[in-house]
Amino acid sequence: MTGWDPSLVRGQPAGRPGRLRHFVGGSFVDSPDRSPGHFPDRSPVTGQVLFEVAEAGESTVDAAVAAARAALRGPWGRAGEQERAALLRRVADELDRRFDDLVTAEVADTGKPVTQARSLDVPRGAANFRAFADLVTATGTESFTTVTPAGGRALNYAVRKPVGVVAVVVPWNLPLLLLTWKVAPALACGNAVVVKPSEETPASATVVAEAMAAAGVPDGVFNLVHGFGPGSAGEALTRHPDVDAITFTGETGTGRAIMRAAADHVTAVSFELGGKNAGLVFADADLDAAVAGSVRSSFTNGGQVCLCTERLYVQRPVFEEFVERLTKAAQELRFGWPSDPDLTTMPLISAGHREKVLGCYQLARDEGATVHTGGGVPAFGDGRDGGAYVEPTVLTGLGPRTRTNQEEIFGPVVHIAPFDEEEQAYALANDSAYGLAATVWTRDVGRAHRAGRALDAGLVWVNTWFLRDLRTPFGGVKASGIGREGGVHSLGFYSELTNVCVELA
Ligand code: NAD
Repeated sequence: MTGWDPSLVRGQPAGRPGRLRHFVGGSFVDSPDRSPGHFPDRSPVTGQVLFEVAEAGESTVDAAVAAARAALRGPWGRAGEQERAALLRRVADELDRRFDDLVTAEVADTGKPVTQARSLDVPRGAANFRAFADLVTATGTESFTTVTPAGGRALNYAVRKPVGVVAVVVPWNLPLLLLTWKVAPALACGNAVVVKPSEETPASATVVAEAMAAAGVPDGVFNLVHGFGPGSAGEALTRHPDVDAITFTGETGTGRAIMRAAADHVTAVSFELGGKNAGLVFADADLDAAVAGSVRSSFTNGGQVCLCTERLYVQRPVFEEFVERLTKAAQELRFGWPSDPDLTTMPLISAGHREKVLGCYQLARDEGATVHTGGGVPAFGDGRDGGAYVEPTVLTGLGPRTRTNQEEIFGPVVHIAPFDEEEQAYALANDSAYGLAATVWTRDVGRAHRAGRALDAGLVWVNTWFLRDLRTPFGGVKASGIGREGGVHSLGFYSELTNVCVELA
């Protein structure tokens, strides 16, 4: 094992890169089936190689799926809700015990501020397991008494069963949070999982595998395979004939590819996909709150949250003031090393993603945007110059149908445009192929409720952003996803209901 050396968070490992391996059937294993068999995982902070990661091909994925299937045939397949919930709570306790290692791994993978990992990403890992342990023991199924043709009675009731082997394919932006958000309900419902984390962020998933083993999760119930998407672990897993359900978070284009692969075996899918989220600022809003909230919603995690706001529409009387204040706030975001306590921004995930985002900044200029701040690359004069940093960027001047206002960028950038009437604001917000989240800033309570109905989005926040209750439905409309997870909606996806109808004497 690598040892979770705290120097990793600076992107400058003290020794040689550690080795990360798959976790199959309760053991850490290398790949027998790939050449060269591993790939480098680089720090977003400095570009240095932190880990050599085993890459799974078909035979490793086959072994992981077979281990999951075998676990379902054993005692785990017969475990009741209380037993599963107790196991989930032990996993949560173990994640708490490994808190510092998870922070190290998560920050090494993503370059995010240690303060953010400690306050959001890592606590949410354990919270996901506790939330679904509570939920699965508190949620019943429907039952009906039915009148028979002969005038008697029959009792109908639904039995909740595991779906089987669930493939969990997750992205790099909130690696631990999104992985546990799916694994916890899958295990709560009695499934066995094969997890494929992003090739960019293999480390915290590896700590989770260690925690699973320490918590006593039966061999094969949690399996982890590393690798890429097409032609690698991701494709092998989502094409696998013995996978019963696929839960995926990532880009809409990847969702399309997975859906095609899933069609061959009619495998169930749950998709949390991309977004091009709008924020609406009405003239009656508390402008201080709207500016502070919009700084968070556009720049948190380097703008690399699916829920981030990339399009802001501001009512004309406050437009100029809002642009000026948001620009100033963006200029005050602090670059630093991840361990700096007052850090307010972070690098992008990789050099490749930085090229994409810088290409979007250039496209905005080519389309005629005014760049109020940002648009370039910061210079540090130290190791961070090898990292994947870009400047937080505020744009104006573009129409709603420009590529800048239609395509997901997934970086620290927002375009701001004015509007006049409420209906116009909803039309602008809805003028998108996506529909994940929207944010509304207003003091008008009636408008708050109207917005919730008028906006094409799976999540509408009013006077706040990214406030999540794990019991509530989460997901997107249009190209932003299929289905809902969260609360009972997760139990719905991760279980099969069998209706039993008993004629009563
Ligand atoms: P991505 O789609 O490139 O990769 C996500 C995962 O899919 C990775 O593990 C990757 O290896 C795997 N993958 C890629 N191609 C595959 C294929 N053909 N078959 C099987 N697996 C494949 O996404 P990303 O760049 O890691 O993450 C950023 C994207 O995720 C953004 O579009 C963002 O909006 C989206 N996202 C959505 C949500 C949500 O809840 N809706 C949350 C977070 C991120």
